Amino acid sequence: MSSVESIIQHAEQHCALRGSRLTQKRKQVLTGLVKSNKALSAYELIDFCKQEYGESLPAMSVYRILDFLESELLVHKLNLANKYVACMHISCDHAHAVPQFLICKNCSIVKEITVEESTISDLGNTVKGAGYQLLSPQIELNCLCDNCA
Ligand SMILES: [Zn+2]
Ligand SMILES: [Zn+2]
Ligand SMILES: [Zn+2]
Repeated sequence: MSSVESIIQHAEQHCALRGSRLTQKRKQVLTGLVKSNKALSAYELIDFCKQEYGESLPAMSVYRILDFLESELLVHKLNLANKYVACMHISCDHAHAVPQFLICKNCSIVKEITVEESTISDLGNTVKGAGYQLLSPQIELNCLCDNCA
C-alpha cells in the first residue's frame, strides 16, 4: 500500500470514529492534497479531480468538502494564501496542537510544525498588550525550503 493510500485509510478510520463519513468525493479532494504535498486552491483541486478521476466538481461542492475536511482536522486552511494543505498528522495518534506552517515561496511545498504552547501564549499576551484580540494563533511563515535555497 502506498503512503498516500495508508494516509487516506487513516483518515477514513478517523472519520468513522467521529461518526462522520469520508465519502468518495471527500476522499478524492483529500487525496489531491496528500499527493501534492503543496498548498492548493479549491480551483487547483477541481483540476486535480477532473484529471485524476474525470469528475467535474462545482466550486461550491469543493468548498463544502474542504470545510468538512477542515472541521475534521484532516486539512488546514492557509489564510494568507487562501489555499489548503493536508494535515501532516493524519496517521498519528497524538492530539493535534495549534499548527504553524512553513511555506516555500518558490515551490509552494508546505511543512506543518508545532511550536511550544508557551510561545503561543506569549504571542497572545503581546497581541493583547497591543490592544488587539488574537483571532487565530495559526502562523504562516514565508520561507525558502532547503531544496530551493
Ligand atoms: Zn495538522
Ligand atoms: Zn504527528
Ligand atoms: Zn522549495
